[in-house]
This record gives sequence, structure tokens and C-alpha cells, in this order.
Amino acid sequence: MKITLNITRTDRTTNIATRCPHCGHFGTFMTLGIMDISTYINSNTSVDKYLGIRKCPNESCRGHLFFISDSNRTILLTSPSEIIPFDKENIPQKVLNAFEEAIKCHSNSCFIASAIMIRKTLEEICIDRGAVGNNLFKKLADLGSKILIPQELLNGMDELRLLGNDAAHIEAQTFSEIGKEEIEVSLEFTKEILKAVYQYENLLQKLKNLKSKTDNAT
Ligand SMILES: [Zn+2]
Repeated sequence: MKITLNITRTDRTTNIATRCPHCGHFGTFMTLGIMDISTYINSNTSVDKYLGIRKCPNESCRGHLFFISDSNRTILLTSPSEIIPFDKENIPQKVLNAFEEAIKCHSNSCFIASAIMIRKTLEEICIDRGAVGNNLFKKLADLGSKILIPQELLNGMDELRLLGNDAAHIEAQTFSEIGKEEIEVSLEFTKEILKAVYQYENLLQKLKNLKSKTDNAT
């Protein structure tokens, strides 16, 4: 993102609430006692953008954050960019690589590339679980017969497949737009799929282990 600094002024600071790209903590970032910078298209216009620096409120982090916001103080960009957190436990390496790249693409505002990597994540899940078929539609149908997963998640996987399909082609067919919101919902959904395929069983095992501990204790 480029901001043309034709006319700039120092301006008041406001609270910036976001997730810390360093520690993952969500909080209201602190000002450093220095003003924000407001930018103007020309001398007759009102504020166009704000630029500023904040500090992570987490005492054990105190990481820096540079931001650009619009005139309503809606954040347009932070540097470092926010990385959506997720639990990596028990996810096979190839699936993990694809999903991590999808998250990196999102945090750098490369939404179409992110959609393609979400689709690749599904492909890798199918390969890992031995689902067969000559295209992803058929593989996902086959995956449903191989793993225990709620029907809603299977339906959602098909939506993600279509999103990735649209992203890889010049004209979107199913989704009117592939932007920040579409990708954030898709990443959240993919996290649920990863949990269902790779993590529920682990969690259940942990619960069972706790139970046997309790049984032994009584
Ligand atoms: Zn932090």
C-alpha cells in the first residue's frame, strides 16, 4: 500500500485494538506519547489517512506496530501484518505447509493466492486420508466415506473448493468477490475442518487419560 504524502500534519492519537503480530495477544495497543500523522489529498480536503506507531499492551511482549487507517480510524494495514493464530498439533506436515501459506497470503492481503492455498490444503487432506477421485469434487465426496466428520463441514469443504476454483480462474463463477472477508471466513472454516480431521481424536484421548487418572485416584 502506498500513501502519497502531499500534505501531512501531526494529529491526535486514538486507541487501536488489534491482534499482536508478535505474541498473538488481542488488545488495545498503547500510544508512545507521540502524535499520529494525518495525510490530506490537497489543502481543501479533510483527513484522508492516519499513520502511527503503537506498542503491544502485553507486558512480556511490548512489540511495535505501525498502522495506516482511513479517516474513520478503520485499520487498512499494519506492519508487521496480523497472522491468524491456529493450533498446529497433530496436523501432517504437507497439510500444515499448505495451510500456513494460506495464512501468510492472507496476512499480506494476497486474498486470491490465499483461496488457492486453502484449496490446496483440502487436496492435501484428501491425499493424507487416501481419498480418491479424478477431481477434488470427487475426492471430497470420497473423503466423507473415509473420515468421521459432520455433514456441515463436508458441505463447507465443497464451498471452499469452489472458492479456490474461482480464485484460480479469470472470471469468478460462484463467489462474486474474493476479498478479506471471504478469506477470513474460509480460513476459520478450514481451521474447524483441521480440528475435526486431526485434533478431536487427540483431544478425546487427553480427556480419557484424565479420566483414568481420576479413576486411579478414587
Ligand atoms: Zn504482543
